Amino acid sequence: MESHLIDPFGRKVNYLRVSVTDRCDFRCVYCMAEDMTFLPKSEVLSLEEMERVCSTFVDLGVKKLRLTGGEPLVRRNIMWLFTKLSRHLESGDLEELTVTTNGSQLSKYAKELAEVGVRRINVSLDTLDEKKFGGITRWGRLRQVLDGLEAAKKANLKIKINVVALRGINDEEIHDLVAWCGGEGFDLTFIEVMPMGEIGDLRLDQYLPLSMVRAKLNEKWTLEDINYSTGGPARYVKVKETNGKIGFITPMTHNFCESCNRVRLTCTGQLYLCLGQEDSADLRSAVRADKNNAKLIATINEAIGRKPKGHDFIIDRRRGQSSVPRHMSVTGG
Ligand code: SAM
Ligand code: SF4
Repeated sequence: MESHLIDPFGRKVNYLRVSVTDRCDFRCVYCMAEDMTFLPKSEVLSLEEMERVCSTFVDLGVKKLRLTGGEPLVRRNIMWLFTKLSRHLESGDLEELTVTTNGSQLSKYAKELAEVGVRRINVSLDTLDEKKFGGITRWGRLRQVLDGLEAAKKANLKIKINVVALRGINDEEIHDLVAWCGGEGFDLTFIEVMPMGEIGDLRLDQYLPLSMVRAKLNEKWTLEDINYSTGGPARYVKVKETNGKIGFITPMTHNFCESCNRVRLTCTGQLYLCLGQEDSADLRSAVRADKNNAKLIATINEAIGRKPKGHDFIIDRRRGQSSVPRHMSVTGG
């Protein structure tokens, strides 16, 4: 179905990201405070409600669904939602069903994900050093993620590794990550740390502009600009020596909003029209208002009609504060 969802700037909205839970089994330093308070379960959409909202978006022309979080694979019974949504892949209404995960549960779920039609997954992994991994994720174990990646490879899932560039933490490891991803056949995306949510740490200490990452890469690798896009904000290059792709997501140094095709649903049913703006629509009330989705469709249409032109992330250099009060785990990365 052609997208019915066109925003005021003529951009077609055909990509929905859904944060299925705000909870996580890790506590990454740039994402969460160690003592996070999570939402009471009563505020979170049931899986049945999420399925209704996602399917309504597909009816309205959404072609790509990504489940994220928090850690999507720690939500109880999550495979029920994947299985239900996979019918849209079979009908051809949906082109892609995918997931962003920290990889901790992939040993358990990789095979099932592949069986319901998931083809590509994003796995977040910022370092290959066990000690640093423990430092960044606070609660994670590197071995668990590496085993999960093995399981995903075995299940023939195509894997992209997401690396948040962190000053003084993984900047010395950039070449190793490129070589490792090349050897494993994984694509790689570097992400700039974004000022989202209070995390009890100074953002300015973590921020490493990707222009510096790229300059460093140029010292060792031959990077060829390519005309490749996954419909997202990443700009890609090919590494001649490994034949692997590297993407750069630079929300802080680059305005990447012109081609934005996405909206985001939180686990409480708030529809955010932009990752970096506060404006949202309450789809939880809408989905609970009636059984025939009329209110839900009207609310979605009205919201798309006020999708903003772009965001304005600033890491306040004097105060070191975040410019968006929501944590990434609420809106979904
Ligand atoms: N738990 C899953 C994971 O880690 O992949 C999915 C959710 S996580 C919020 C999605 C992505 O957002 C991850 O790649 C993570 O590294 C990234 N992320 C989290 N907080 C961020 C921040 N403040 N700035 C930039 N990226 C962030
Ligand atoms: Fe959890 Fe992902 Fe946030 Fe890390 S980045 S704390 S794994 S939600």
